[in-house]
Amino acid sequence: MAVIVQKYGGTSVADLEKIQNIAKRVIRTRNDGNDVVVVLSAMAGETNRLIQMADSASGGAPDEREYDVLVSSGEQISVSLLSIILHRMGCKAISLLGHQVKILTDKIYSDARILSVDTGLISDALKKGKIVVVAGFQGVDEEGNITTLGRGGSDTSAVAIAASLKADFCEIFTDVDGVYTTDPNLYSKARKLKKVSYDEMLSLAGAGAKVLHPRSVELAKMYEVPVYVRSSFNEDRGTLVTREDKDMEREVVSGVAYDRDQAKITVVHVPDKPGIAARLFTPLSEHNIIVDMIIQNASSEGYTDMTFTVSQKDIGEARRLLDVVARDMGASRIDYDENISKISIVGVGMQSHSGVASKMFEVFAEEGINILMISTSEIKISCVIAVKYTELAVRVLHDAFGLEQEN
Ligand code: ADP
Ligand code: ASP
Ligand code: MG
Repeated sequence: MAVIVQKYGGTSVADLEKIQNIAKRVIRTRNDGNDVVVVLSAMAGETNRLIQMADSASGGAPDEREYDVLVSSGEQISVSLLSIILHRMGCKAISLLGHQVKILTDKIYSDARILSVDTGLISDALKKGKIVVVAGFQGVDEEGNITTLGRGGSDTSAVAIAASLKADFCEIFTDVDGVYTTDPNLYSKARKLKKVSYDEMLSLAGAGAKVLHPRSVELAKMYEVPVYVRSSFNEDRGTLVTREDKDMEREVVSGVAYDRDQAKITVVHVPDKPGIAARLFTPLSEHNIIVDMIIQNASSEGYTDMTFTVSQKDIGEARRLLDVVARDMGASRIDYDENISKISIVGVGMQSHSGVASKMFEVFAEEGINILMISTSEIKISCVIAVKYTELAVRVLHDAFGLEQEN
């Protein structure tokens, strides 16, 4: 008997009919002789609705503890509904919330990291022949406060549970039938990958391909959990995310990702002396704001400009913190630009090839797309451009690197 963790995303549980369909799939998996743990997201649109309510109720800055109590509630609805439907279909099932399982996290509200998963209750219920339905996206800190794992975090709940249970594999059911060379909803020429390595998937997810939450891929890699990304609307096998093996294509470029959720900040005319970077970035990191790309311009007459990107959700808090530091440092002003997008190309074969970055820049030049920032790592090259060019940039890069053809 295998242990299988199945996660269903928001569009898969959007209404009662869809939840009934999931129930049928879950029962089929169970009748095939497997132990099944189901992890659910909130019904489509529900988390957005809750976030908007928190913002309206608070005037834009909700208390962070209460925010997590509120936004985690969407998953309570979907897990109880699926369990009710499973009961009605004659199955033994039990829903469990994050704090009931004891999905222990750190204390970083709205972006918490899972520290451990207590498998006791889940294993007991499985032994009694029950289907276990766990609320994704939520956990509990050591003081008993409810936490959430960041947008898209149910994937991470599923993989963490699969790792702790030593499940045979984890299936992520979503509204596309696998991982593609780029977002298939943005470019119809995107090609589905049969397999993708943990490292490539990690780079794609980190670059904004939201089909998997980045932390879920990190955990899958760390605990070697095989992950299948599949559609909840058909029977396709989907894409296997796994360890790199020798029959895997070592493509120079295997995917293109975009992230419209970035904002660019420039602190203008700061004195160029030791310690300025630390003074600027330490308050941000102390408030758990992740800074992605950083550029320090060449110094001129003892002054420099510092440009960097943060997630759009952090822009309000970054503004509040930076206003104070920039004034103390004597910077002349701070510019904010939210109309940007980060476009990345990813591929493990990049490490052994030259000319990949220059090809990317040439493609942009031919289309008249101005590059605002560049960053490179071993298997990823990212450029920040104006948001209006996002689709065009993805398409021309996908074409230029021949991604529609199978090698
Ligand atoms: P769920 O609600 O099921 O968690 P998400 O919306 O979080 O689903 O993720 C699925 C979406 O990810 C797809 O609808 C697709 O638009 C987007 N996506 C972005 N990049 C990719 C990619 N490379 N392959 C597949 N889907 C992608
Ligand atoms: N419901 C949460 C969200 O919309 C978590 C998830 O769907 O993975 O972000
Ligand atoms: Mg998701």
